[in-house]
Amino acid sequence: MKKMKMCRVMLAVCFLCFSFLSSGVYTQAQSVYTSGSEYQAASTTKKLKFKKKVKKLQAGSSYKFKVNKKNAKWYVSNKSIATINKKTGKLKAKKCGTVKITCKVKKEKVTCKVKITPIAVIGIDPGHQVRGDYGKEPNGPGSGVLKTKVAGGTCGVVTKKPEYQLTLEVGLKLKAELENRGYQVVMTRTTNDVNISNKQRAEALNKCNIAIRLHADGSSSSAASGASGLYPSAGNPYIGHLSPDCGHVTRLLLEHYCAKTGIRNRGLSLRDDLTGTNWSTVPTALIEMGFMTNPGDDTYMSNAANQNTMVCGLADGVDAIYGRK
Ligand SMILES: [Zn+2]
Repeated sequence: MKKMKMCRVMLAVCFLCFSFLSSGVYTQAQSVYTSGSEYQAASTTKKLKFKKKVKKLQAGSSYKFKVNKKNAKWYVSNKSIATINKKTGKLKAKKCGTVKITCKVKKEKVTCKVKITPIAVIGIDPGHQVRGDYGKEPNGPGSGVLKTKVAGGTCGVVTKKPEYQLTLEVGLKLKAELENRGYQVVMTRTTNDVNISNKQRAEALNKCNIAIRLHADGSSSSAASGASGLYPSAGNPYIGHLSPDCGHVTRLLLEHYCAKTGIRNRGLSLRDDLTGTNWSTVPTALIEMGFMTNPGDDTYMSNAANQNTMVCGLADGVDAIYGRK
């Protein structure tokens, strides 16, 4: 009983002491306590933030993001543009565009935007158009030689498909394939019913890194078959200084195209009479994909599945040009 009483007394004293102490110095003590807790929060419970981040990344490259906390989970807004390892934060850039990266740790999250830049800008000119334009234009800068603005092109001996249709089908597929591989693509046309001269086509692609001109051959002999690449000679007065680069680009495109498709490689030809080549200020290649006047080539090139193979070969050539193959 005595012990119980003593305890009660002591409790009462303690309570009084506590009330007294806290009443007199409450404000001050409280403010000291608060600032102390803030100081502690800053040093032990940090806010989630990036330790390592990047704003731009070239397609085809990788980057590992880091935050100041463990057990982070990573997400990306568009998986067709870039993928991210959920646990490690390693981002793989696939094709051009902008993605939002999100990092979550428990209930906290931080985000940032990353722009995926192209490996290179590739120009594609699907040769010809529905109606040729038989007006004239100089076949090179300052040239007195006038040539037809844009010719009608050839036609499939079996399929009856016009060349302008074939080049557009392949051109649009090539655009999609190259974009998937991390390139940016500029097209001279995306429909058949246009009127763009060869000079205008060259000029439209002069801001690209390289220009690819897609054509198909025609011959009076149905036996002629295979693909070839045309590029300017070193003696070309307009683009001769780029002849070695044009030759390199044309050779790689043609080699990979023929290797993939099995179409016969007829080799490279030097041509200085082509308006679309002469007005170019960047390495340019004209690929004759096969002979539309040859039944085998014509049937092959018109088939949608074969066109995917053709495009794959040409895209392999572009990858080879940029040291990615
Ligand atoms: Zn043509």
